[in-house]
Amino acid sequence: MGGGNANKNSKTANLAARPPVVVVMGHVDHGKTSLLDYIRHTDVIAQESGGITQHVGAYEAEHKGKKITFLDTPGHEAFSAMRSRGAGVADIAVLVVAADEGVKEQTKEAIVHAKRANAAIIVAFNKMDKPGAIPAKVAQELIKQDVVVESLGGKVPAVELSAKTGKGVNELLDLILLVAEMEELKGDINKPAEGVVVEAYLDSKRGPTATLLVLDGALKAGDIMATPSTAGKAKILQDFQYRNISIALPSAPVVVVGFENAPQVGEVFKSFPDMDSALGYLEKKARKAVPEGEAAAVVDSGKKTFNIILKADVQGSLGAIQEVLKGLPQDNIVLRVISGGVGEITENDVQLAGSAKAMIIGFRIKSGKHAVDVAERAGVRVVIFEVIYELIQGVRKFMERSREPQIIRRDVGKLKVLVVFIQDQNRQIVGGRIIAGELQKGLRLEVWRGEDFIGKGKIVNLQKDKKDIGKGKVGEEVGILYEGEGRIAEGDILTAFVQEQQRFGEI
Ligand code: GDP
Repeated sequence: MGGGNANKNSKTANLAARPPVVVVMGHVDHGKTSLLDYIRHTDVIAQESGGITQHVGAYEAEHKGKKITFLDTPGHEAFSAMRSRGAGVADIAVLVVAADEGVKEQTKEAIVHAKRANAAIIVAFNKMDKPGAIPAKVAQELIKQDVVVESLGGKVPAVELSAKTGKGVNELLDLILLVAEMEELKGDINKPAEGVVVEAYLDSKRGPTATLLVLDGALKAGDIMATPSTAGKAKILQDFQYRNISIALPSAPVVVVGFENAPQVGEVFKSFPDMDSALGYLEKKARKAVPEGEAAAVVDSGKKTFNIILKADVQGSLGAIQEVLKGLPQDNIVLRVISGGVGEITENDVQLAGSAKAMIIGFRIKSGKHAVDVAERAGVRVVIFEVIYELIQGVRKFMERSREPQIIRRDVGKLKVLVVFIQDQNRQIVGGRIIAGELQKGLRLEVWRGEDFIGKGKIVNLQKDKKDIGKGKVGEEVGILYEGEGRIAEGDILTAFVQEQQRFGEI
């Protein structure tokens, strides 16, 4: 698409400079929210009423007379959802690393996302007010992630700051403007608008309300606009402080009322000359999106996989979710989307989940009652989420869980061997008393002699008083035809057990 990175370095004369779009990324608790809040409170020109700015998912700060747009949705997952639908959304990624903690898992993920999105990285060594802050050490750690800061001879600008005291934040803003200048960010205000949905919800009074980030072109009040999932007319256009405006220029966050339904976060929107072409975009995009059944994650046959079937409300969110899931760390367990589709959960989905030992993950969908009944009977787990971020966190948790052993062993009975009747190659007939639980024909057995493990095999036949029985209970004396390893001796304990597939736990 035309916005974001697309117009970097463009020298076309028609283009006007636009403010940089900045996203703040990094590990949890390293200070992303604090930094965004600090800048919002000190560098945003407050409304005349003096009211503090509302949270609409993005805001414009002003520094040295120049604007900077901040995506106020910390967390690279949301950012990545946007990226998947809208090429380069952010021009600059501020990588927040707590200087007393250093590079963590999500720091690494953030770097990967920023690089994939082709955003310029600025490193912010945060929490410099803390005694344990050692930015030089963090800078060394970053080298391993291919982020070499300027002080170490690299190309990545860095700044030391404290989101708590505000020290260094001005330098960060200086740096952002400097990087933006070098990137020569331009937008064409004569083009129809296009950009990305930053936030969307259903306002009880105003109806579907969305925060859009205009990446290129200009959005005017009254414009017809569409995303892949919905269309409408921009009845109300407001800036991020809910002040009415008539036009939103490139890089501007804008609150829009007028979509038929709340669009999906991360979807690309465009403005159109008429409703017909807007609806055409809607259908065309829906057709072009991720085909039914496309697998999102790679399967590494040597590794354990966590299988899911993904069902979403619209193609837009399905694609966005698949894109974010691809970015989840898969060092220990591989996430495999064995099927992805739009619409209700069907019996087919349940059957597929059953045979592939997969979990069904839904996003903003209803699940057909019949399918849920079938799922319950088949022992297939169905979980439905309403918020992308929560879905991703949920999947993360399930992946963590399923790293633990999936096969659970459960003892069902014990027999104390009283007599050994026959022993040949690998079959033995022994008699004994069931001292715990019950024994059943076909069960697997382990032979124990005190603490020593002798071997394992199975119960080929079970007899009582020379008659075959299916199962024997505690207290009974039975004969066992054992097939397996080891030579059983009088006094041994035979433990019968089953191995069961672990069922998914609750979140
Ligand atoms: P996020 O998860 O990355 O958004 O992190 P937060 O902004 O929520 O910060 C996590 C914690 O670190 C909070 O308790 C903040 O008050 C604290 N914190 C953030 N920045 C600083 C800083 O520069 N100095 C100190 N001392 N604490 C900070």
